[in-house]
Amino acid sequence: LMAEQERLAAIDVLTGLRNRRAFQQQIAVEISRASRYGTPLGLLLLDVDHFKQINDSQGHAGGDRVLAALGALLRDRLRTPDIPARWGGEEFVVALPNTDLAGAALAAERLRSAVASATIRHGNIDIRVTISIGVSALDGSETLEALTERADQAMYAAKVKGRNCVMVSEAKPDLAAAANDK
Ligand code: GH3
Ligand code: MG
Ligand code: MG
Repeated sequence: LMAEQERLAAIDVLTGLRNRRAFQQQIAVEISRASRYGTPLGLLLLDVDHFKQINDSQGHAGGDRVLAALGALLRDRLRTPDIPARWGGEEFVVALPNTDLAGAALAAERLRSAVASATIRHGNIDIRVTISIGVSALDGSETLEALTERADQAMYAAKVKGRNCVMVSEAKPDLAAAANDK
């Protein structure tokens, strides 16, 4: 019973994915594994494009339907070790163990393309959406906050670039900080 309660507390009901808190617990494990064994760790931050317009035109239930469909798509398309979660609102996050920046960018592009070609049935209407994705990969002894902040900046750059695209964070925060310090 306790295990079942713990499982329910970790799951976002709408999407069936881990919630943010559960994701943060899991990625802490992945970060320590990656820094101990020197293995790569990729991170994707996904944000639905113009989601407000979907809520406005299809109603909140239509918006919810889209989020549920995106949750199912992430579960279907990702590999077993990958860790998708609902980051909040219409934002999703995916941790990719054993995956470097180039591999994470490939995975992001596959997801972007799958979402762009999907139709989401809501009543008798087919809703189509696109997503913008920011990609980062763990850099040395970086914290979760720094890793997600870089993915968030890349995601914002994807929005600025016109949405429905993938942008990668190549930043080397340590070098940048060192340069700023001198
Ligand atoms: P952009 O392309 O810049 O991302 O535009 P956007 O409209 O997606 O951006 P914004 O972040 O301004 O809007 C997100 C909207 O998502 C606002 C909020 O009403 C809606 N939203 C957040 N959580 C939920 C939810 O659980 N269900 C539904 N239906 N809507 C939600
Ligand atoms: Mg958003
Ligand atoms: Mg959005």
